[in-house]
Amino acid sequence: MPESSDYYRVLEVERSASDDEIKKAFRKAALKHHPDRNPGNKDAEHRFKQAAEAYEVLSDPEKRRIYDQYGAEGLRGASGGGFSSASTEDIFEHFRDVFEGTIFADFFGGARRGGRGARGAHLRCDIEIDFEQVLTGAEKTIEIERHETCNECRGSGARKGSAPSTCSLCRGHGQVQQAQGPFFIRTTCPRCGGAGRVINDPCPACSGTGRTRVKRTLQIKVPPGIDEGMQLRIGGEGEGGRDGASRGDLYCVVHVKPHAFFQRRDEDVYLDLPINFTLAALGGEVEVPTIDGSVTLKISRGTQTGQELRIKGKGFPSLDGGGTGSQIVRVFVEVPKKLTAKQEELLRQFEKTEEPRSEAREKGLFDKFKDYF
Ligand SMILES: [Zn+2]
Ligand SMILES: [Zn+2]
Repeated sequence: MPESSDYYRVLEVERSASDDEIKKAFRKAALKHHPDRNPGNKDAEHRFKQAAEAYEVLSDPEKRRIYDQYGAEGLRGASGGGFSSASTEDIFEHFRDVFEGTIFADFFGGARRGGRGARGAHLRCDIEIDFEQVLTGAEKTIEIERHETCNECRGSGARKGSAPSTCSLCRGHGQVQQAQGPFFIRTTCPRCGGAGRVINDPCPACSGTGRTRVKRTLQIKVPPGIDEGMQLRIGGEGEGGRDGASRGDLYCVVHVKPHAFFQRRDEDVYLDLPINFTLAALGGEVEVPTIDGSVTLKISRGTQTGQELRIKGKGFPSLDGGGTGSQIVRVFVEVPKKLTAKQEELLRQFEKTEEPRSEAREKGLFDKFKDYF
């Protein structure tokens, strides 16, 4: 069986997984491969859709039973062919309840599509938050400019008190027939542009367009745990629609300012920590900053450069609700560049106590290097 049609493998769960485990696995996969998180990555989009397909089957007891018995072949024709042609938005809409109550709802929630006419276009904005605000979440004020339905004419485009009249050329059909040789062809009415109505007395506020351009100030809530480049969808805050159709959505791309010494990788925070060579050799304790206050870190005897020490629970909250990351402290042992006379004397004494240089050991090392070249 190819990997893609092994739904258990796609979701990385056991065949005996419970409904709850399957749900969790789907959330995890959906977050990992979500196209907003992997812009332009076709492979991620494909995996995202595969996970959706797998969940669609495994979350339905009847479909799962058929699948377990006959495989994906058994479901052919029954499940409607998967999600390969569906949009990410539609997939989230379809599985809305799976993400309800998680941080996901903030990312992908918002207004359902609605309205008949031409729905307003989506708008995009950028917001920047501090590194520390990833932990707490943040509220940001932004200003956008968008088209909204004209208040004066309520979107009709005709001066208050008047109404658009039916187009006399097409009689309201929006199309006209023209003879071209032996044929009649239908074209968009040149008088009304296909609307079927004409405005004889345009609304002065919107010049007859039915929409006006306005500046709006919005409060955007950024949930904790968000990562660089993720988008927040603010439902219904995009461009106004035409003829009373609903507004588009506003997508806010979140940028996280880099920190002076912390770095983030998924839920974990990395910190490079220089320590004295004496501390590395003797062991002891050192105070280190974390994104959530400082903690005392134990340094074991004989700690080496490059060693990574994990401080559990001092990372960022996981976006799929699966706990909190760690802070990883990467240790760098510093060798003093200058020595006082006293220090030099002590080190000379120490040197005398070191094991004599062993020829056998050096030879072994040399052979290792030789293999490399
Ligand atoms: Zn017309
Ligand atoms: Zn108007």
